[in-house]
Amino acid sequence: MPAAFPRPVDIILEKRNGAEHAPERLEAFLRGYLQGEVPDYQVSAWLMAVCWHGMTDRETAALTRILATSGDALDLSGLPHTVDKHSTGGVGDKTSLVLAPLLAAAGATVAKMSGRSLGHTGGTVDKLESIPGFASSLSREAFLRQARDVGIVVTGQSKQLAPADGLLYALRDATGTVRSLPLIASSIMSKKLAGGAGSIVLDVKVGSGAFMATPSEARALAETMTAIGRHAGRNVRAVLSSMAQPLGYAVGNALEVREALGCLEGEGPSDLLELCLVLAGQVLDATGLPTSAAELRELIGGGQALERFHRWIAAQGGDVRALAHLDLAPGRDVVRAGANGVLAEVDALTVGRAAHALGAGRSRKDEAIDPGVGVVLHAKVGADVAAGDALATLYHRHGKGLEEARQLMERAVRLADTAPATPLVLETALS
Ligand code: URA
Repeated sequence: MPAAFPRPVDIILEKRNGAEHAPERLEAFLRGYLQGEVPDYQVSAWLMAVCWHGMTDRETAALTRILATSGDALDLSGLPHTVDKHSTGGVGDKTSLVLAPLLAAAGATVAKMSGRSLGHTGGTVDKLESIPGFASSLSREAFLRQARDVGIVVTGQSKQLAPADGLLYALRDATGTVRSLPLIASSIMSKKLAGGAGSIVLDVKVGSGAFMATPSEARALAETMTAIGRHAGRNVRAVLSSMAQPLGYAVGNALEVREALGCLEGEGPSDLLELCLVLAGQVLDATGLPTSAAELRELIGGGQALERFHRWIAAQGGDVRALAHLDLAPGRDVVRAGANGVLAEVDALTVGRAAHALGAGRSRKDEAIDPGVGVVLHAKVGADVAAGDALATLYHRHGKGLEEARQLMERAVRLADTAPATPLVLETALS
């Protein structure tokens, strides 16, 4: 160990006492961890101290840089208008499936790495893999070639990009230290910076189904992430959007692909379309291709976005003809309203747990999922319902997880005399 290497316990004490780490001391500590010289238990203690005392902007920027430069970085500099999007995670959030082709149709290059489902939240890669043949792992050469030729490529997170984040995230997951603003911001932004896009739009979710339960927490996360991006020379915009209820009606992998396809065919649902138009408008503006909502609607109405979607899926080996009849689980169970009223709540977190119980999500990273199961809502917050009306259909495989999912769905929905006004987009253009 070099003489200048701080003792790990001093770094832990520094943070426990609420002091600021000098960037080079933080770097030495984390590099020591990556090289196996600092054990998990010391990094765990430090992570918990960060959860309690937070980090200054300087520390968060240093942590992001250390994570971002821990592996390879993609060089997208030869490609026009490279854009990326990140959602802080939600239920029924199939936005990327609509947004990516819409952005490509507007002239941008979408070269993106996406996550898998974990816990109650879904992941774009799992959704795409419900399309027969779709390959979510490409060589670097194939990734760059497809970005150039098709304008869209979406793969799973490369283990070579920001590998330190993968290590640290696994430790955070096991030590109850995921929920910390500087740790979340640096984790997300390290992968975005290593991913190489010039312009990035961040969809920061607010509500029960999200990491950030209140708008002020979500705004603080958005501001930290946009500041990190700005200092790294990227154009970053953030949008705060509601995750109080699921986005759209479908929750579950193949069900969500079907809904996203419907959106690209001009059938809505309106909340999904609205969010895609806002996110697209922001990132296109940031990359120097300003496009109005009306022009974006035209790209959907005129079929250009759908055509891009088909080209993209085919380029990654997906069977475009199979999109019309994706394999859905054969079992159906309908959850009905027990009384007359107005739907006042469809709790995103609880619906996400119901889909998870049916097999749509995973609790551990190596767990298999069932792409054909999930929940389709029939009504959203604000709808008038009568006793006996169908509120949701559960798609299940031979009853697996059905009883638990039914109970969760009954808890997820609440009827009242009136419904709260719930705007979908709470804030836009944070930069
Ligand atoms: N997503 C990430 O990539 N990292 C976090 O810490 C939380 C959500």
